[in-house]
Amino acid sequence: MDEKYKNVLHLGNPTNTLAVLNRYQFSFQKKFGQNFLIDDNIIHKIVREAGVTKDDFVLEIGPGIGTMTQILCEQAGAVAAVEIDEKLIPILQEDTLAAYDNVTVIRADILKTDIAALVQEYSGGRPVKVVANLPYYITTPIIFALFESGTPLHSVTVMVQKEVADRMQVGPGTKDYGALSLAVQYYARPQVLLTVPAGCFMPRPKVDSAVIRLERYEKPPVQAEDAEFMFGIIRASFNQRRKTMANSVCSNPELGITKEKMASALAQCGFAPAVRGEALTLEQFAELSNILINLKKSKE
Ligand code: SAM
Repeated sequence: MDEKYKNVLHLGNPTNTLAVLNRYQFSFQKKFGQNFLIDDNIIHKIVREAGVTKDDFVLEIGPGIGTMTQILCEQAGAVAAVEIDEKLIPILQEDTLAAYDNVTVIRADILKTDIAALVQEYSGGRPVKVVANLPYYITTPIIFALFESGTPLHSVTVMVQKEVADRMQVGPGTKDYGALSLAVQYYARPQVLLTVPAGCFMPRPKVDSAVIRLERYEKPPVQAEDAEFMFGIIRASFNQRRKTMANSVCSNPELGITKEKMASALAQCGFAPAVRGEALTLEQFAELSNILINLKKSKE
């Protein structure tokens, strides 16, 4: 560890966390998904697995009292931490992160933040690594916001609910497979790194957790002529899992696909008319949506 940080009180244990919480009379806000890490080993593992170096800019979503932020500041070139709870801002700025000169704490709701603009302002052109113990109530929208922000992301290493990590990683034919799996796998290579027991958090969450790393592809692994349209097809296919894909897609007026065109596209791909979305790979969704786009154009 760098000499200049040797006097920092690290928070990755129950005693030091409680001391800070008591000093500021902080009470946890359930509505913000606040479960703070109290295990130093796990924090170091996450930062190590994220491969953070002095050449990197790290975006942390939800620093809490700054437990992981401290370690990120010690390993990264620069860190920006976006926190929604205004009660945490003085704790971070005046106390737990006061020793670090490479961190910017931003009080904001990440879902209302222009992520690309923020990164441009603070990254100084360095690769962007997102590292976070995410608030579980908004995991999926945050993942979508990150990938759709147009930010030059290198990777996203995040703690999520174990079940959600599984959904991001699975392939066709399993009950967990769905729109989230396909969206994540279009943008990134997912890898579940470790599972984390509830005892590593304060307060203890009711669910198991896991750390997943999403390494962004330079180019998506499939060629969709119109990715937005493909995701429209994907979302419609999984919206009503018990319906056939043809029924779900054709009953969505926004997609504008007639039964005839759908039947023709399915046949061209070699799928049975009653096929369900859960049977198709990402590549097959791309192929089907490319055919549908051309059918739409040709006879409109
Ligand atoms: N990183 C800390 C840790 O590991 O101890 C805290 C993690 S806690 C699971 C999630 C954090 O995200 C909380 O600090 C919470 O206040 C914050 N948060 C919740 N919703 C948010 C939002 N929309 N934008 C930014 N931060 C948010």
